[in-house]
Amino acid sequence: MLASAVVGATAAALSTATASGDGLAAMATSATVLHSPTQETALGMGGPETLPSGVTAEVPMNGRTMLAAASARNRVETIQATRAAKARQIALIEAARPKWLLPLPKGTFTVSSCFAPRWGTFHYGVDMAAPGGTPFYSAGDGIVVQAGPAGGYGNVIMIEHPDGTTTVYGHEEKIFVEVGEKVKAGQLIGAVGNLGQSTGYHLHFEVRTGDETGEKQDPMDWLSEHGIPLAGCGSEG
Ligand SMILES: [Zn+2]
Repeated sequence: MLASAVVGATAAALSTATASGDGLAAMATSATVLHSPTQETALGMGGPETLPSGVTAEVPMNGRTMLAAASARNRVETIQATRAAKARQIALIEAARPKWLLPLPKGTFTVSSCFAPRWGTFHYGVDMAAPGGTPFYSAGDGIVVQAGPAGGYGNVIMIEHPDGTTTVYGHEEKIFVEVGEKVKAGQLIGAVGNLGQSTGYHLHFEVRTGDETGEKQDPMDWLSEHGIPLAGCGSEG
């Protein structure tokens, strides 16, 4: 009975306060004081006034923000240094990379026919005899201008090089490049075959001056001029 009376009195007091609004008014006043423009300015948080357009409020850095900025700067510098080192490494590798290579590595083939008269006609290439399926490679950087079946070649790949010559690879049983493809020296382009006018597995290697329609020149001379001399056709190499 007594407890219930106390509860009732408290409830009555509360309802009186709420009805009068005194408590809320007091809280509102104190909030206004706390967040007055003057105080915010003093705290370095900028006033409530809107800044003229184009002007950005500067947020002062505390210790932690400055450390974070320094650390971010260090990270950026580290990334930049790493990238520069990587670029230097790539440039060194590119400089050291052979620009001209034999289409078949030494030891994987034997020269079986030269740039010379043969069988009442003229043989315009150098034949490199190797087992069927032996992978062969582009002799230099260039663009594939032919890749596919072609008459006596059986299959042929032609690559035009920036030095103004075109290399020709014939009789292959497999072709791993397409017309228009850019290739690098030493890039796998095909596998040795025995297609077309051929009497055994070998790579017919030919060099033309200019583009694919150019004059056929002695591949042995071309190989020597490009720093990859090959023995097997007399005085060359
Ligand atoms: Zn040949």
